[in-house]
Amino acid sequence: MFLTISTTGSAQRPATDLGYLLHKHPEKAQAFSTSYGTAHVLYPEADAERCTAALLLEVDAVALVRRGKGKGRGGAPDAALAQYVNDRPYAASSLLAVALGSVFSSAMRGVCTARPELPGTPRPLRVEVPALPARGGADLVRRLFEPLGWTVTAEPVPLDTEFPDWGDSRYIRLALQAESLTLAEALRHLYVLLPVLDDAKHYWVSPDEVDKLLRVGDGWLAGHPERELITRRYLSHRWSLTRQAKERLELVRLAEADDSEVEDLDNAVEPEAEDEERPTPLAVQRREAILGVLRASGAARVLDLGCGQGQLVQALLKDPAFTEIVGVDVSMRALTIAARRLKLDRMGERQASRVTLLQGSLAYTDKRLKGYDAAVLSEVIEHLDLPRLPALEYAVFGSARPRTVCVTTPNVEYNVRWESLPAGHVRHGDHRFEWTREEFRGWARTVAERHGYDVEFLPVGPDDPEVGPPTQMAVFRLDTPKIDTPKEAKAA
Ligand code: SAH
Repeated sequence: MFLTISTTGSAQRPATDLGYLLHKHPEKAQAFSTSYGTAHVLYPEADAERCTAALLLEVDAVALVRRGKGKGRGGAPDAALAQYVNDRPYAASSLLAVALGSVFSSAMRGVCTARPELPGTPRPLRVEVPALPARGGADLVRRLFEPLGWTVTAEPVPLDTEFPDWGDSRYIRLALQAESLTLAEALRHLYVLLPVLDDAKHYWVSPDEVDKLLRVGDGWLAGHPERELITRRYLSHRWSLTRQAKERLELVRLAEADDSEVEDLDNAVEPEAEDEERPTPLAVQRREAILGVLRASGAARVLDLGCGQGQLVQALLKDPAFTEIVGVDVSMRALTIAARRLKLDRMGERQASRVTLLQGSLAYTDKRLKGYDAAVLSEVIEHLDLPRLPALEYAVFGSARPRTVCVTTPNVEYNVRWESLPAGHVRHGDHRFEWTREEFRGWARTVAERHGYDVEFLPVGPDDPEVGPPTQMAVFRLDTPKIDTPKEAKAA
């Protein structure tokens, strides 16, 4: 099984950055053992103009049988030999996807510690898979990849080149070309769509596959025209899981709809809807609460950290009290949507001079963020892996040090009140954690103490007597040092 990923570049943006993105050095051939065999990563070419990484998976057919699900489709399932002699070792399939996910896991999550600016930057990418089992043929391959920004070349592989009359095999020679995708996006597409095309998943599909699918599909699956087929096949046709995934994707899709106010699961659902005729979505209540805090603080120059698609930036622009507004996000895609929403390209000069969108990661200190009156972290901290949180704390409270910091995050205790949320699930596929009120307060107090801030807590949304509000907010204010009356003043 074989797959190559290539990119092109220039002296300023060398193609060999691919090595950083994949966390695999272009000059070394490396081998990784997986539960089904050995995965090799090597670079057939690596210079500034062109760089290609190849993933070769040597499948151990015996190990596959021992694990109990090695049957290739087509053979009689219980014929003894068919278990061992089948297409699995040669055809790209779910095994290749599993290898992609384990060998390139950081790349798939878009993490690159050495060069944090790289993962968010789209670049030209080409993926080739010489033998891809594709149930549904070239047509389905196109329907799956084209809506995601890929140009698809899919040629059926003949059964036998010497006997053209025999017709085509069920394999496709696939080449995908994209002008502007991030590597993480590309890997996530492959991770889901290769097994979907193969449609013979080799391992047992467990309920957390739904979470995995939603996580890896974040940002592209909910709006995909073939999302139903993808979900059904990815979950190996298990009906109850497929239905669950479908419902959750539908919420995400509604929430992503371009002009809608709402953008994640909790926003799509109205708390205590029965009381009011047209309840205000939680996202709007949160924004109002944040604006209230910022106005009361007297801030004029404001950072929106993890600004996402720019809804808060847009609201801030409407109030002339905010003279300088900076939105920061790690996701280029989010910033592109934000720019479109704000109509940055058509804005008058005066307005435009008030707003800046910056791409950057909050897990790193950033000189550009120093000296502001206030910063907002609205529904952002829960998107970081817990071990990365201290880095964000330092970058915001230690380095940028705005006078006021307003942090919001879901209150996990409230989740029992969301009817559509299955027990034990977080509200959004990308949430790495959700905290109780106690946990959030504990964290906030420690941060405040460590960095010399005072902190106060406010509810957002209906404050349930038992489980508290859906959103919890902490407002940090820089401790104004108690100034001793200067000696001169005393003397006077
Ligand atoms: N603040 C917005 C968006 C919240 S979604 C709102 O309240 O609606 C979380 C956002 O945080 C996403 O846009 C995500 O890209 C961004 N994000 C996650 N990790 C980040 C990091 N390390 N640095 C900067 N932004 C990050």
